[in-house]
This record gives sequence, C-alpha cells and structure tokens, in this order.
Amino acid sequence: MEKLEEQKRSEKKSEILLEVKNLKKYFPIKAGVFKRTVGWVKAVDDISFFIRKGETLGLVGESGCGKTTTGQTILRLIEPTAGSVHYNGVDLLSLSKRKMKKYRPKLQVIFQDPYSSLDPRMRAKDIIAEGLKSAHIGSRKERYEMVKKYMDRVGLSPLYMNRFPHEFSGGQRQRIGIARALILNPELIVCDEAVSALDVSIQAQILNLLDDLQKDFNLTYLFIAHDLSVVKHISDRIVVMYLGKIVEIANKHELFINPLHPYTKALLSANPIPDPTVKRKDRIILQGDVPSPANPPSGCRFHPRCWMAKPICSQKEPPLNEVQPDHYVACHFWKEMIEQNG
Ligand code: SF4
Repeated sequence: MEKLEEQKRSEKKSEILLEVKNLKKYFPIKAGVFKRTVGWVKAVDDISFFIRKGETLGLVGESGCGKTTTGQTILRLIEPTAGSVHYNGVDLLSLSKRKMKKYRPKLQVIFQDPYSSLDPRMRAKDIIAEGLKSAHIGSRKERYEMVKKYMDRVGLSPLYMNRFPHEFSGGQRQRIGIARALILNPELIVCDEAVSALDVSIQAQILNLLDDLQKDFNLTYLFIAHDLSVVKHISDRIVVMYLGKIVEIANKHELFINPLHPYTKALLSANPIPDPTVKRKDRIILQGDVPSPANPPSGCRFHPRCWMAKPICSQKEPPLNEVQPDHYVACHFWKEMIEQNG
C-alpha cells in the first residue's frame, strides 16, 4: 500500500505545475529633479525553470541575487518586465487583475519575517481568516470552524485565536503565517526565507511541519533561502542564482556531489560541516564583492570572481544548458569541472 502511494506521488511529480520562461524584472534608477530614469537594476534577468507537481524546488544564492524578486514576480505581487509564468498551462502574466483573483487562493506565500508580516492590530483568528473573507468563502461560522481546524493542524491551540501577534513567539507567529496560507487550499506555496528569522531548533520544527503538510495536502513548494543546509533538507531539486541569473539547476544529491558551476562549488564549500574540529580542505574563498546588478559584468557575470575564468568568459554569456539528465549549468567549462570533481 505504501509503495503504491509512493508510486502515485512520483508519477504526480513528473507533471509540471509551474513553468517560468525568460522572466525579467528591472527596477528603474531615478535621478535629478525630474526623476528621470538613468538606468536599470536588473534584479531578475531572463531566467527559465519549472516546478513539478508535489516537489519542493529550492532557490538559493547570496543576498541580492534576485531570489525574493523571482518569488514575488511569479505571484504577481510585483509586475514583471518581461517573460511568462504558466501555472497549469495558464499564463498568469497575461491575466487581468480580475481574472488573476481567481488564481490567488491557489498560489500562496509564507513570508520571511513572522514579526512584520502579521498585522499587529489583528487577532490571530482574523489574520488566518482574512483570505477566506476576501475570497467570499464560507459564512462567518464556517470560517470560524475552519480557523479552529487549521490552527490545530499547524500545531497552535485554537484557544489562542483571540490573541494578538505580539502575544506569540516567533515560531508560533510563523505557524499563523502557514495557517493563513493553508486555509485557502493552495497548490503552490512560495516559502520566502520562511525559517531564516527563527532559532535553529524552531527552524527544524517548522521544516518538519512543512514536510508533513506537503504530504497531507499535496502541496508544491518554491523554497527560497540562503542557507544551503536548510535547502538541502527540504528540497527535491535546487536552483542556484547569481546576480539575477540562474547558474545551475540539479537534483539536490547530484548538486552536492557533482556541482558543475564554480559558483555552486564555492557556495557548497562555505557550507558548515557538523564536526567543528575537522578543518575543511576544500574551502573556496571568492575574491571581491558581488558586482552591482545595475551594471553587471559582460559575458559571464561571475567572471571577475571566478578562478576558472578564461578570456571567452568576459566576452560571451554562457547559456543554461542541460548537460546531464535533469542537470542544467551555465558555464563554458563545465566539462573541466566534471574532471575536477573526479
Ligand atoms: Fe567561470 Fe567562465 Fe564558467 Fe563563468 S563561464 S563560471 S567565468 S569558467
């Protein structure tokens, strides 16, 4: 019976739920008294990827690489500059605001900071029921029963439903955020640094809760984080971003064993190992700072910091190609990297 369930889950995982193509988000730089546009910050610059039904896709990279902008653009919390986002075959970016409303319950978000993402003047029950109310779902009594049920499901006592956010701990507030997303019966949840602001022990509890909810409610996650060990724990596949571009996509095991982009390799080498007495021999220290997305380097954006760079790297942008089954990389010298990995 368990095997059958497992098979059903893996068959479902092969179906594509969300497909992002050539997505761009540029923010204007304004200057002068007339606030003229003098340039553009290319926060997300022509990225493409997909998410399969029932999987967790991790999205990692340093601060400012465009992870959060990607999540917000997919959900149309901010409007993109160009590209398409197909959800179950429907291009969300071509929908009018009114038509988009129909899809909002199915596409939910859990924010980074449970301290600021909840309205301090609202009671927990009203925060959780807010989405139901604006989507005109259920009577007052039905909404009350649903709030009770979902509070219980995320590990919060319904006895606390009349409390205000400041009366909860950080972990409890994040559970309110999860209940608020879950109550709308979503299909995709964007978890934007959902555990980054929490203590390590609370992080583990929330990650386990997200894991359980995924199985029970057939959820698909886009899990945005900068902490690779957290992403490794929860993700099926991982997307690595650098300066607004995707540099590598692979299954999490493949990515950790056989990284094919020098930036991924550097990120992995910075990941702490459990035994602090063991000195890391493979640590790669990147030189220089992350360049400005308003003026990104020519060719491969990583070339000023890459120890494998050759003249072609500053002249020609490497495309993101599938170089092994389900393993995509944007580097001219991925074959050399395979040799290095042994
Ligand atoms: Fe480094 Fe060149 Fe590969 Fe870019 S294309 S990651 S600069 S080797």
